[in-house]
Amino acid sequence: MKSIYDLSLSDLQEYLVSKNLKPFHAKQIFRWLYDKRITDFDEMSDISKKMIEQLKEDFVIESLAVRDLQVSKDGTKKFLFEMKDGALVESVLMIFDYGFSACVSSQVGCNMGCSFCASGLLKKQRDLSSGEIVCQALMIQNELDKDNERLGNIVVMGTGEPFDNYDNVMKALSIINDPFGLMIGSRHISISTCGVVPGIRRFGKENLQYNLAISLHAPNDELRSKLMPINRAYPLKELFSALDEYSDNNNLRLTFEYLLLKGVNDSKKEADEIRQLLKGRNAYINLIPYNKVSEKEFETSSDENALRFYDLLKKNGVAVTLRQKKGDDIDAACGQLRANKLK
Ligand code: SAH
Repeated sequence: MKSIYDLSLSDLQEYLVSKNLKPFHAKQIFRWLYDKRITDFDEMSDISKKMIEQLKEDFVIESLAVRDLQVSKDGTKKFLFEMKDGALVESVLMIFDYGFSACVSSQVGCNMGCSFCASGLLKKQRDLSSGEIVCQALMIQNELDKDNERLGNIVVMGTGEPFDNYDNVMKALSIINDPFGLMIGSRHISISTCGVVPGIRRFGKENLQYNLAISLHAPNDELRSKLMPINRAYPLKELFSALDEYSDNNNLRLTFEYLLLKGVNDSKKEADEIRQLLKGRNAYINLIPYNKVSEKEFETSSDENALRFYDLLKKNGVAVTLRQKKGDDIDAACGQLRANKLK
């Protein structure tokens, strides 16, 4: 049976109309699901018995099973969720000074094949439905409910490529963003892409206020194509032309993610190339320590080198941040927990 979490507010309104019911009840139902976070239709006390029976006939309220939960010393929690068909998906709850943030997955496995990433160790099995994406956030909110805390931020940076599952990701975010849904503001939602140009172009035209992050990881085509196969399909020139078009339509600052890989992309040469690439663009670059993946030969840059790289960019006028490491005592790299579990 269909999961009710797969319905956006407008889907639910349409459904009600199709059953000769009043569409305004959709908002009430949404509040029960996402604000009161009930798990049984019978708890919807201001909905008529007749409507409840109808809902039960057509939908289930189905949350995800927690297969594993790792807690880091810094408070980061990594969840391994099991979907109805047995598929395993990872999500992470992180604590920042600006609040709680959930990192959700968009696919079961990933086909992008980035050479340093644990997610790609297992090929994509399938896309996640919008309901399965929403439920990751909802489950994390349930965890926070124990301490009366509220989830304030969502990043679609878990396993999978969000622009390879465009429609489901956008529907999930509309529910997460909805004032009757999880009520997380657009500016507190981020989507991270490895550089799927058609997705960037499409997203740019939607005029949603979500943040866009691009996994750059290398500032020249030769290195980037080695690290990220997507670059062979959409090299930097094409990527940046799509991003410029995006920036023309949206007044938002772009985020570039840049993994610090020891001896691979952390020398003065790359710092100079980054400066050239970002010059004149409304963007900043976030330098990210690499979480070691045992199956891969990559290492993170030393702290000393990371700071040197940071300083080089900073001194040259590049807007740059150096991300704190989170959860490095647990399997926090994308796909790591799932890959280890499936071994
Ligand atoms: N497919 C999307 C979103 C998922 S990956 C994308 O590529 O952006 C989210 C981010 O985690 C990407 O920047 C990715 O390159 C990075 N990442 C992958 N493996 C990592 C690791 N072992 N340590 C730190 N970051 C990693």
